[in-house]
Amino acid sequence: MAEMMKAVTIVDVGKAELREYPKPVPGKHEVLVHMKACALCTVDQRAFLGVTKNHLPSVQGHEGSGIVEAVGEDVHFIHVGDHVVLEREFCGVCHYCKENINQCTGRAERRKEFEAAWKPGELAKPIGGFESQMAQYLTIQENKLTVVDPAIPFERAAVTEPVSCVIHGVNRSRLATGEVAVIIGAGIMGLLHVQIAKLKGATVIMSEPDAARREKALAAGADFVVDPTAEDLKTFVEAHSYGRGGADVVFSTVPHSSLFEQGMGVLARAGRIVAYSSQHPDVPVSVSIGQIHSREIEIIGTMGSNREETYLATQLIARGYINTDLVIDHVLPAERCQEAFEKATTPGTYRVVMQME
Ligand SMILES: [Zn+2]
Ligand SMILES: [Zn+2]
Repeated sequence: MAEMMKAVTIVDVGKAELREYPKPVPGKHEVLVHMKACALCTVDQRAFLGVTKNHLPSVQGHEGSGIVEAVGEDVHFIHVGDHVVLEREFCGVCHYCKENINQCTGRAERRKEFEAAWKPGELAKPIGGFESQMAQYLTIQENKLTVVDPAIPFERAAVTEPVSCVIHGVNRSRLATGEVAVIIGAGIMGLLHVQIAKLKGATVIMSEPDAARREKALAAGADFVVDPTAEDLKTFVEAHSYGRGGADVVFSTVPHSSLFEQGMGVLARAGRIVAYSSQHPDVPVSVSIGQIHSREIEIIGTMGSNREETYLATQLIARGYINTDLVIDHVLPAERCQEAFEKATTPGTYRVVMQME
């Protein structure tokens, strides 16, 4: 009989449990990863809450870390015992992959294929892909892994993916040394933005109504914090932007498009605003094209990260440049997955990480 393993499975809306699956065996060019930790991203939380139209049951998780337990045939560069994180899925063949643009259409097509082939009762997607890491074991091609410093605890390595996504957005914004950045929202993504923007040498203003979260932003390195419900954000930013009359870059990290509009209003001339967060619901906002024209404003989208950014994230975490403890609220064993999801979906919680052993 095949060896079995467990995986955290969302079996119904609001219900997660450990289910048994056959332990995978690595094929040619594949390695077997014993997953050690996986964080519960907003994407997983939305699947649990039924906010997104996921098929269920589903094994979620794309913020994992683990250790290589075995290697298949023709694996040369990854070794048993390596500590690893998975890279985002890229086909490597489509136009966007060839141009090194983070918009792989091959991945999107594969996702559609899974959805079309799905039958009730089956897993929404096979265990082992980038987006189903909440398992004890998974197999993956050796060239889709990043080896991490074994000194990094698995819980910290698990937040590589969110750090890499923030690096991607900051790279797209072209934030430069000495510029003024406004970050809207001191949730996990906001706090990571503070840290990456400070590493870039920017002055950072955090706009956040919650006092405890503003304290966290200061601990993350923000230069100024402001409560936009108590003070006029535009006036505050103008007063703290060293003659620019506004921010060079605004990062909108919250899923409320009205706050994106507020962010547009605090930009300096030639300012850039980054739509970091996905929007649920995606309520359109009005923008003045005349202002975009005359003030030379740029609106920048960002999603996910690429291979270099994943690697950089692991390097920054390993060297202690990113304080991951600030963004991890709870670490729970996978047996307590229901509680982990409930905690993660409680408003105000930063990351919850599950130990997968
Ligand atoms: Zn994530
Ligand atoms: Zn592609």
